[in-house]
Amino acid sequence: MPADSAGVPAPILSFVAEQPLTDHHCHGVLSAGGGLEELLTEGDGGPRAGGTAFDSLPGLAFRRWCPPLLGLSSHAPVEEYAARRTELGGAEVNRRFLGASGLGALIVDTGYTPADLLSPAQTAACAGPATTAFEIVRLEQVAESLAARGTGPRDFPDAFRSALADRAARPGVVGLKSIAAYRVGLDLAPGRPSEQEVITATGRWIGAGGPGPAHPVIPRLAEEVLHRFFIWTGADLGLPIQFHVGYGDRDVDLHRCNPLLLTPLLRALEPSGVPVMLLHNYPYHREAGYLAQVFPNVYADLGLATHNVGSRAPALLAEALEMIPLRKFLFSSDAFGLAELYYLGTLLFRQGLSRFLQRMLDDDDITLADAERITRLIAAGNATRAYRLS
Ligand SMILES: [Zn+2]
Repeated sequence: MPADSAGVPAPILSFVAEQPLTDHHCHGVLSAGGGLEELLTEGDGGPRAGGTAFDSLPGLAFRRWCPPLLGLSSHAPVEEYAARRTELGGAEVNRRFLGASGLGALIVDTGYTPADLLSPAQTAACAGPATTAFEIVRLEQVAESLAARGTGPRDFPDAFRSALADRAARPGVVGLKSIAAYRVGLDLAPGRPSEQEVITATGRWIGAGGPGPAHPVIPRLAEEVLHRFFIWTGADLGLPIQFHVGYGDRDVDLHRCNPLLLTPLLRALEPSGVPVMLLHNYPYHREAGYLAQVFPNVYADLGLATHNVGSRAPALLAEALEMIPLRKFLFSSDAFGLAELYYLGTLLFRQGLSRFLQRMLDDDDITLADAERITRLIAAGNATRAYRLS
């Protein structure tokens, strides 16, 4: 996309550039900023492979678009950039990048919160006084907090139901999230497990007697029955349930994260009417688009992938939009920790959407009114409707 010499993106369609975005899946920002190399991608192919994470499309996009916000020229060397970042300090860097992201609302996953991470409200405040913060509760985190408190297998089903209901009733909570993909994969049986199955699986997970001196560390939650129990308990609360799908760090077995594996469970959940939000999806974004087309309650996004493919983001967005109903696609940055990732996520998304719409306008495939309406839906309207944001 052409740009002026200061690195300011040029012809993004004005209504795309000005449209506030609702980021339906992101994380908090780190108060001090964190390490650029470690946080740029989910990967480990930079320094540990004898190189740098910046030798990648996300790295090149970072160097292309981020330095101007710190008063440097585009493509400035990483060392110069890092020095300028330190000089400005975390609070100022966060304010500059989040403030330039044009975010109307953040729906923040609070499932992983290192000490230095700002809360949803604090992260939204960096973006500006008009940005609203909402929260997503991670199902596995609720279960692990019960295990840490010593809840034994027999008490676990009731304790989980009541703890999840309490968390879900907190102000600002608008949805739940499952990371079954990370623990057991998405090949989940469709049915709701019985009480006895849950008790037995909890015993396998934390030991028959529960945690305690013999089990000071909570074991990895790799019990398929329990993930299903969490999902069905969440569905009973009527809140949208997000699923990690596809691309993630090397903790995922990517071949078990194809959303098509969820098909039997999606069929079983459909009568509940609970919105199912398929997150990230790359490289299965076409499969996710298909599921969003055939299931009325399934939605999808491209979070994380948008900035991870850098200048290829417009092509990826066009692929994701091939099949998916336009009322089912949502914006997500999946930014974590680094303020630059919110900025890159929103900028590359706007560039991709603008190109997609401009091409259809040029070919007379849509009217200007259509393009504006599609922008409002994808940028914010679909999230507002699915999560019932007020
Ligand atoms: Zn995420």
